[in-house]
Amino acid sequence: MDFDLPDELVALQQSVRRLSQDKIKPRAREIDSTGEYPEDIFQAFKEADLLGLCIPEEYGGGGAGILGLTVAIEEVTKYSNVTGLMLLLTRLPTGPIMIAGTEDQKQRYLPGIAAGETRCAFGLSEPQAGSDVAGMQTRATADPDVEGGWILNGTKCWMSGIVQADWYTVFAKTGDPSSRAHDSITCFIVDRSMTGVSVARTDRKMGVKGVDTGELLLENVKVGPENIVGGVGGFRLAMFGLNAMRPIVAARGIGLAEGAIMYATEYVKERQAFGHTIADFQGIQWKLAEIATEIEAARLLTYRAAWLADQGKFTKEWVPQLSMSKMYATEVAVKASGIAVQLLGAAGYMEDHPTELWYRDAKQLTIVEGTSQVQLGLIARGLLNHDIWWD
Ligand SMILES: Cc1cc2nc3c(=O)[nH]c(=O)nc-3n(C[C@H](O)[C@H](O)[C@H](O)COP(=O)(O)OP(=O)(O)OC[C@H]3O[C@@H](n4cnc5c(N)ncnc54)[C@H](O)[C@@H]3O)c2cc1C
Repeated sequence: MDFDLPDELVALQQSVRRLSQDKIKPRAREIDSTGEYPEDIFQAFKEADLLGLCIPEEYGGGGAGILGLTVAIEEVTKYSNVTGLMLLLTRLPTGPIMIAGTEDQKQRYLPGIAAGETRCAFGLSEPQAGSDVAGMQTRATADPDVEGGWILNGTKCWMSGIVQADWYTVFAKTGDPSSRAHDSITCFIVDRSMTGVSVARTDRKMGVKGVDTGELLLENVKVGPENIVGGVGGFRLAMFGLNAMRPIVAARGIGLAEGAIMYATEYVKERQAFGHTIADFQGIQWKLAEIATEIEAARLLTYRAAWLADQGKFTKEWVPQLSMSKMYATEVAVKASGIAVQLLGAAGYMEDHPTELWYRDAKQLTIVEGTSQVQLGLIARGLLNHDIWWD
């Protein structure tokens, strides 16, 4: 058993830490207040070769795997959750292709992402179907003019990075529209340039500003067989991509929690009250000690989940461990950012400090890519099935 990161990941951690301090920390507030996409940060990621971290070397990536991306995201999210999202978006839409795509799809879509020449987004949620994926209404019907081709109609919503994306991974019902079976759903790659594809709206959000979420309209979009990922009805294969994402979302949680608690810790050492610094009070020390313990617990769950995913352990029997990392780390982020606001008092509520920004940004994490309740359901099912068992 070895709890140390390998040397190359320590080097990555150090270099991303420096980049985050130099380039992200000074920009975080401005990105939030303008809500404008931080192209400068994207370019910094590109120059530092961070956009292909989890893409295999044969497709132009860095081959650092899920663990490498986890380490990088933890560092950038100490200052800005939205920059963590930018790195996450190099894996969320590409995951199904890496896991279940054809060689041709990998050659066509992965090198552009790794090189920072193209961007992508992921369309699973719909206005009437978020947690309830099987309730999706986007339909794919057989294209009478193209052998093996499909015509897509429907609306996907809350898609992160939708405005900058050149292509989308989207899911549609290819089987009986009323069926709730997973093999009635298929994953497609949809190019932005295809006729009938449009961004219908973008959302006004509570946090994670700078990378828009929005609605993708698919109107009679013709997709050839070469853009089907994992075969017709291959939703289950594509879902493995989401399982493998759990530590990557968790990484945003631990990074945000670490940033918030480091900031609050420095503050309480300076703030005077009742003739002491507030750090002298045991009530404050215990609060910090408890949340530091929770952050470390979340960190261990997250690193283990990333390691599991890199071993190919993202199939059903590993779901509980993967879901635990996402559920716990993101709940810790919400808790930690709340503690940070509280420890700064009124100052923490004002825009003079980043605490209120972390507080707003944290909440997204317990909702996206399977809410905390959905993760709890998955963990419980794993326990009931003995996928996680200690005997
Ligand atoms: C900022 C942001 C970015 C996003 N980016 C993307 C993206 O890029 N691509 C994409 O496809 N989607 C994206 N989403 C959507 C996200 O994945 C969904 O919001 C999420 O899956 C939950 O779906 P919902 O919002 O419809 O909530 P609902 O499914 O309507 O759930 C509402 C509440 O009910 C609870 N609930 C639902 N079912 C159960 C149950 N069985 N047991 C107990 N409680 C339950 C949920 O936990 C939640 O608290 C994004 C969302 C946000 C906020």
